[in-house]
Amino acid sequence: MSHNFLKHKYDALILGGGAAGLMCAIEAGKRGRRVAVLERAERLGKKILISGGGRCNFTNIHCTAANFISGNTHFAKSALARYTPADFVALVEKHHIPYHEKTLGQLFCDRSAQDILDLLEKECHESGAQLFPNIAIQEVTRADEFVVCAGEREFRAPALVVATGGLSIPKMGATGFGYELARQFGVAVRETRPGLVPLLFSAEDARRYCELAGVSAEVIAACEGQHFREKMLVTHRGLSGPAILQISSYWKKKESILIDLAPELQVTAGLLEGTVPRNVASLRAALRRVIPNRLADRWLEIHQPKSLTNNALEDMERHIHRWAVAPAGTEGYGKAEVTAGGVDTNELSAKTMESRKVPGLFFIGELVDVTGHLGGFNFQWAWASGASAGRAL
Ligand SMILES: Cc1cc2nc3c(=O)[nH]c(=O)nc-3n(C[C@H](O)[C@H](O)[C@H](O)COP(=O)(O)OP(=O)(O)OC[C@H]3O[C@@H](n4cnc5c(N)ncnc54)[C@H](O)[C@@H]3O)c2cc1C
Repeated sequence: MSHNFLKHKYDALILGGGAAGLMCAIEAGKRGRRVAVLERAERLGKKILISGGGRCNFTNIHCTAANFISGNTHFAKSALARYTPADFVALVEKHHIPYHEKTLGQLFCDRSAQDILDLLEKECHESGAQLFPNIAIQEVTRADEFVVCAGEREFRAPALVVATGGLSIPKMGATGFGYELARQFGVAVRETRPGLVPLLFSAEDARRYCELAGVSAEVIAACEGQHFREKMLVTHRGLSGPAILQISSYWKKKESILIDLAPELQVTAGLLEGTVPRNVASLRAALRRVIPNRLADRWLEIHQPKSLTNNALEDMERHIHRWAVAPAGTEGYGKAEVTAGGVDTNELSAKTMESRKVPGLFFIGELVDVTGHLGGFNFQWAWASGASAGRAL
């Protein structure tokens, strides 16, 4: 049957035409490599289009290795240094794409995420990279070179880059394809879990707080020695908002997260110093000054102090700054912005993303056990790891 195949021969095959795969294709193409990007979906870069609420938070100007979670916290440094936020911004400016800094170094498109996808497709075109959407990969094998079989087509190349992304948003077609391919080639994968994901209340907390859905407050959310000072949002099922999404990437089952409801403020100071009457109404008024009324009232109802002695007020103050919430779980991959865990970084060269065991096999982007904080860091990792591999092809 093989004589019926449409045979394609390249220098490198890139599986997955998302952020990392397209950047890899651009960098390899610019160096004269003949590359093909094989994408399962009917069009490339679908996740880019829905990112950042449709405006794509394409990088973060304050990006360092400290913004990433990984089994090896040093691994990302080399790639991040080789392809920086300034490098991507230069590309954005070359294409005259208007952008702005929203908050905390996060850069967004003024118009739409489509601008970023257009940029990537144009650069691919100029670099000679060939893009194949609608490719259903059936099998990947390796003898003297890699062979990818997809229906009537057969693609061959001495190098294979796996850029098929993580498990988040299965509705958009995310699968475990890349992890399975890693295992097929004997490359270790660290356990995956949803990251940047809303947390679910326990049944008891759901009864207590869910009717506050929509209320938000600036808090510090902490666990596992990490903390984030940002907005928290109460939802119909639990907690969300940037502070919670950030801490969710660190949260482990059965652990509690600690929430400081009044960062840097002393809620009970007036009662302790005697400048306001020492009663529950004053306490409520003091808490209402720092968090929304409904949350303040409900929180005090549930955590009503037994007395208003100095000790009891000091306990109350501590509690306000260390409210322990034990989530029942997360909203899962369906709502997660990223997949934490993935291809073990010990298996890869930090400089090129090439497998140490299988020469010519590369893993890039979200598939790798490098997970960014919220705020443009995951795209910066996709660009940086993609560029590192692309320059090594
Ligand atoms: C709702 C949402 C909003 C986000 N917003 C931001 C943001 O603003 N800023 C930020 O930094 N990060 C954001 N992220 C995270 C960011 O989108 C990802 O980290 C990034 O896209 C990862 O790039 P990637 O190329 O590794 O994977 P992807 O972009 O997921 O690309 C993988 C590609 O591989 C294809 N593929 C999968 N399986 C196969 C297969 N078997 N054969 C061929 N192709 C296959 C997929 O169709 C896809 O096109 C967001 C994520 C979500 C879900």
